[in-house]
Amino acid sequence: MIYCPFCDGQGVINKANIKGTEMILYICDECDTVWKDTDITEDNCDNFENVMNSLGRKALWSELADVERL
Ligand SMILES: [Zn+2]
Repeated sequence: MIYCPFCDGQGVINKANIKGTEMILYICDECDTVWKDTDITEDNCDNFENVMNSLGRKALWSELADVERL
């Protein structure tokens, strides 16, 4: 498993597909911080809200498919 750098060992990174797209993202199951690739660092992150809003979607886990822990 890969742990979130912000959640002090509590948050686990999940790989997920945004439903209806080809996009894959990596998301912490605690704080909803998002990464576009598996370079899970504090400098490389994005915000779930921003990513989904930029696609005209709501930042909900129900918008994600094939969620699996790394
Ligand atoms: Zn986190």
